[in-house]
Order: sequence, then structure tokens, then C-alpha cells
Amino acid sequence: MSNPLYEGLFAAHQGKQTTFIIDSQNNTEVSYDAFLKQASQYANAITQQGLQPGDRLVAQVGKSVSTLTLYAACVQAGVVYLPLNTAYTLSEVEYFVQDSGAKLIVCAPESEPGMAEIAKQHNAALMTQSNDGLSGSLPDMAQQLATEFSAVERSVDDIASFLYTSGTTGRSKGAMLTQQNLLSNCNVLKEVWEFTEDDVLLHALPIFHIHGLFVAVNVALKSGAKLLLEPSFNLDRVIEKLPEVTTLMGVPTFYTRLLGDERFNRDLTKQMRLFVSGSAPLLSETHVQFEQRTGHRILERYGMTETNMNTSNPYHGERRAGTVGLPLPNVELKITDPVTGETLPTGEIGQIEVRGSNVFKGYWNMPEKTAEELRSNGYFITGDLGMIDGDGYVSIVGRNKDLIISGGYNIYPKEIELILDEQLGVVESAVIGVPHPDFGETVVGVLVANAESVDLEKIQLAVKEKLARFKHPRKLVIIDELPRNTMGKVQKNILREEYKSLFV
Ligand code: ATP
Ligand code: MG
Repeated sequence: MSNPLYEGLFAAHQGKQTTFIIDSQNNTEVSYDAFLKQASQYANAITQQGLQPGDRLVAQVGKSVSTLTLYAACVQAGVVYLPLNTAYTLSEVEYFVQDSGAKLIVCAPESEPGMAEIAKQHNAALMTQSNDGLSGSLPDMAQQLATEFSAVERSVDDIASFLYTSGTTGRSKGAMLTQQNLLSNCNVLKEVWEFTEDDVLLHALPIFHIHGLFVAVNVALKSGAKLLLEPSFNLDRVIEKLPEVTTLMGVPTFYTRLLGDERFNRDLTKQMRLFVSGSAPLLSETHVQFEQRTGHRILERYGMTETNMNTSNPYHGERRAGTVGLPLPNVELKITDPVTGETLPTGEIGQIEVRGSNVFKGYWNMPEKTAEELRSNGYFITGDLGMIDGDGYVSIVGRNKDLIISGGYNIYPKEIELILDEQLGVVESAVIGVPHPDFGETVVGVLVANAESVDLEKIQLAVKEKLARFKHPRKLVIIDELPRNTMGKVQKNILREEYKSLFV
């Protein structure tokens, strides 16, 4: 029997008594061996619910050892793992259950009443999951489930997971990820980031998203490293735990929050070998401050639900601020003209396309969208705009959907945001396009500002000095906080909706 993902990530650790997870919430440690035995029990439990290989399991459960066990069990049983954001409401969950045709829902005990209704409506079984394990109405559940389960036969082209995108630019799409997609990425990352079983990875990301699950957890599994599992990014906890770990994978807000705390210093990071940032742009200023404070240079990388990881700054060699580094060895990346699809020369901005063993199989139930974005030659049109410099470093200038077209000119919000961010009193900014009767769209700058020092007229003057007229914000507005999702991504669609009637 062969099941490459199970063999590569899980079975390889059978019998190992070394720690896999340090569960900081419960102050316990789980060995690889104990983890695998429990995963087999879970695999027995979910197959007793009648799940066949290829069936979907929707899980809306918190961040715990038990949730990671469920993921392992799905791989072992050949069941498609579909983890959901814990912030989703019941009606949102219902959409995913219906869209995926899930056969089993796993939820937290407190959401059981509402979930039972959804399960009944959509002919799915229901189980609840807590730290003590899975429970549900099973014939054998009263007895102890076996700690052995023979992994179900799967091929590298079989789907291992449906992972829904973050929904930053519209409704979430279910990306179908194969065993091969997941395997190729962690194999490469283990090599380029030099992970070994001596590593302890501080894990404070959500585990329903590509970054926390199939980047962080899979790299640890691939290399036999330890995961220090924190329920979320709690500044006090992270500062306390840093001296016990060797690596941190985070989003930019982790780093700005650490820098905002005076306890965070060089001593706490002496034994660290790697700080990684991804999921949203890292400001150059954060790079500089972080290096000054700790002596470490953050490694920025670029990925997405559909492709897992595309690029990384080098582990050895120059980590170039403002770039997301070089394409990974298994990834081909090119910049193309959004209209003609032709490859653009070095230094020109266009759409980022990627091809490789990391690229997903398509969106579930969305054949048209899949055909639009996945070219027949295997390239995926990422929806991001960027460029490659003379040394091969890739930078992202924003998303295609955020591009502003005003009076026929293309305007990249990032260029304006960088100038706004430098101004006295500006904490951060987001530039959007809103409808305009003469120009089609026009530029609006949304600022989070320090009330005492900010002077909007001065800011307008500074922008006028630096940028062509068509790029000047027609209006600057100040708000308390930029809308962000759980991964720290600014939700510009919410801002566009808010300000859509400013000029029309
Ligand atoms: P949706 O596709 O539903 O609109 P989403 O694209 O935000 O949501 P994810 O797959 O979670 O969903 O995020 C991938 C996106 O995150 C990338 O396409 C890119 O825009 C952004 N991103 C990831 N890493 C970086 C980075 N280092 N710098 C800038 N942007 C990044
Ligand atoms: Mg996307």
C-alpha cells in the first residue's frame, strides 16, 4: 500500500519517542509516536462514520494538538481535509459544507447545536472535538479505538485538501491541493531553510490557513522538528517563549508588535536562527528596525493558498528588503502583460505567473474560474502584480484587483502608500481607487494617523512634489484602524465599498 504524503510526513516518524508538539496551552508534550497512535485512532473513528477515500471532512475547530491529529488522520484515511476559519459564522460554514459536499463535519462542542442542524440539512455526519479527542455516535466509540490503521492507498495526484482562500478580493475559493503539491513544497523548504530535527518552531499562526498549516506544520513534520504550539500570537507569551525556540514563522504584524515592545531585545533572540515573514508585505522600515534591535535579518517569502510557496529570500546570501526573494527551486515564475499574456522584460511591472509541482489542481466547483487562471501550459495567473530585478529578486506591487485605472493611466497603490507612510504623523495607509465621473476611477488615500502631528495639507504637498499629477490622491481620509483579516491582510474591498460614493 502506498500513500506518499502519509509516508513522507507521518509514517517516517513511527516509533520516535522524541517530542513533536509542545502544547503551551496545556503545558504538555506529545511525542511523534503518541501523535501517530492517536491519529490512527482518529482515522478509525472517521472511517467508522462511513467516509471513503476522496470524501470531504469539514473541520471548524480551534488550534490544538487534537486538530493537527485530525489532519494526520485525514491523510492516513485518504479523506480530503477541509479546515475552516474559526471566525466563520454558522451560515458561512453551511456554505462550505454545501459547496464541498462534505460527508462529515467536525466542530467544537460549543457549536454542536447549530452544526447538528447543518449536518442534518446536508446529509453529513457530525463529530465534536475537544482536547480529549473526537466524539460522536459510533458503534465502537464506547470501546477504545485501535491505535493502528493501515494507511489508505493514494497517489501523488490525489487531492489531500481543499483549502479555501482568504477571501481578500471576493468570495473564498476552494483550492484543490494534491499530495504532490504539499510534498514538493515541504521537501524544498526543508532544504532551503535548512530545517533539522534540532529545530523548535514557535507556531503562533492559525492552522486553517496555508501559512500555518501546509508551510509551518509540514516543514516541521518533514524535518522531524518540534512545534511549540501557541493558541495565537500573544505578545507576552511570545516574548516569554522566544528563548526556547530556534525559528519563528510569522506575518508582518508579529514583527511590528514585537518591535513595539521594549522588552524585545537581542538577548531574547540569541539562539534564534531564522525569522520568516509572509502573507502580507513587510515594510522596509520593519526590516531595518528589526536588524538594529536583534542583529537578525527577517527572511521574507511569498506564497498563496493555490500554490503554497513561490519565492523566498535566501537563507544564505542577501535578504533584500522590499522583495520577496527568488523563485524556489521547484517554481518557475514570470511576469506577463495582463492584456497579451506575453512575458515582459526584467524590471517591468506585470502579472505574476507561476508554474511547478506546487501549483494546485484547480478550484473546486469553479471550472470557469479555473480555466481563466490556470493556463493550459501549466502557469497559474496569481492575481498579483510585480516585477523581477536584474538579480532575479521578485517584488510585489499589489494585487491586480487593486490596480487603479484613472483617465487611462495605470496607478499602483503601493507607490503612493510608500510616500504616505513616510509622512509625519502617518502610522499606515491604504490607497484605493473609487468611481469618478470623468476619470473612471480616482485615487483616495486612507490613513491611520497620529492626531497631534498629522497635517493633511502638508501631506498633499509632499505627494505633489514626488508624484505625477494623475497619481495624487483626490482625497485623504483618516480612520482609526485599517480593516484586516486574520492573516493581517488589509481588506481593500471593504474600504472601496465605504468610499464608493465620494465622487459620484
Ligand atoms: P482571495 O484569493 O480569496 O482574494 P487571498 O489571496 O488574500 O484571498 P491567500 O491565498 O491567503 O488569500 O493569500 C495570498 C495572497 O497574499 C497573495 O496572492 C499575495 O497577494 C499576498 N501575499 C502573500 N505573501 C506576501 C508577501 N510576502 N508580500 C506581499 N503580499 C503577499
Ligand atoms: Mg488570492
